[in-house]
Amino acid sequence: MKVIEHIQQAKDTLISFEILPPLKGKSIAALHRILDQLIEHQPSFINVTYHRAEYKYKLLDNGLFEKVFTRKRPGTVGICAAIKYKYGVDTVPHLLCGGFSRSETEDALVDLHYLGIDNVLLLRGDAMKMERSFSPEPDGNINALELVEQTVRLNNGEYLEKDLTNATETNFCIGVAGYPEKHFESPNRKTDLKYLKQKVDAGADYIVTQMFFDNQQYFDFVDRCRAADIHVPIIPGIKPITTKRQLQTLPGIFHVELPDELVEAVEASKSKEEIRDAGAKWASQQCKELIEYGVPCLHFYTMSNLGPIEQIMKAIR
Ligand code: FAD
Repeated sequence: MKVIEHIQQAKDTLISFEILPPLKGKSIAALHRILDQLIEHQPSFINVTYHRAEYKYKLLDNGLFEKVFTRKRPGTVGICAAIKYKYGVDTVPHLLCGGFSRSETEDALVDLHYLGIDNVLLLRGDAMKMERSFSPEPDGNINALELVEQTVRLNNGEYLEKDLTNATETNFCIGVAGYPEKHFESPNRKTDLKYLKQKVDAGADYIVTQMFFDNQQYFDFVDRCRAADIHVPIIPGIKPITTKRQLQTLPGIFHVELPDELVEAVEASKSKEEIRDAGAKWASQQCKELIEYGVPCLHFYTMSNLGPIEQIMKAIR
């Protein structure tokens, strides 16, 4: 079933979890153990992130360097299919512009279509660690809008090979990312919203937000979206803090601000357990308020960390 159908048919606030594929070389068994527990909370769907290949320079015996491409976490499409058929839960693979040519994107969408997966979250992806700014493949989509447009064309039976006649139409429900605190490359919120609207007008069915720690950021974002004529469901992204280090890393990586009260609660914590408890309590309070507000779904960035999820679920259900 599509995400948008889950939302339309929901009687209560839905739950979705976002998980990462295992590191290359690790078995899927650990992920299954995590999923066994996540499934108990009856998520309507599970998102699986995509990780683009990065390159690094390997020193050779002759003293020269070889440029080597490696993907740290492969397997997004396979994991989505495995979850869908093992647990009978809908899955949402993330697909990126970065690292994909348009024809590789088309092939990935065809694979998903054959696997019976009709949900995708379409994203541009970030720059590789070695790059100063995002650069697409020579024949790749340059931003998420182009990726949405390509997927919509496939939904209309338009493949890259123009001479394909009577080609099968795919049927993807399309999610895109939105940023309550603005995407870090955007000059301002208004411009960011203009590009978000383009993705929705091109065919995105719903938006999932970047994590935020102050609900007012989400409420204001929804108001700005509605005022800008963006009327699709906006799913809030929730990330429970689990370590003190995240007070520095999360703002650095995700360009989000942490409220004083949360920072103080984490800083005052004396043990790992106390930190996790402070993070889970904050996220639980956020969730309760968001449910009250009437959000369609709570999307948890689990980062494969179960402890806080169990605590939050107990607190909100
Ligand atoms: P876009 O919508 O393409 O926007 C990127 C930037 O370009 C923005 O500043 C935007 O304002 C600007 N822009 C857009 N259109 C135009 C235009 N026409 N002209 C000029 N500027 C424009 N990353 C991963 O690598 N893997 C994942 O699995 C993953 N999952 C994510 C899930 C969620 C819910 C979110 C919120 C993010 C996720 N990301 C993931 C991170 C994401 O790839 C980055 O935030 C990336 O920098 C932007 O992606 P986007 O799809 O929002 O890009």
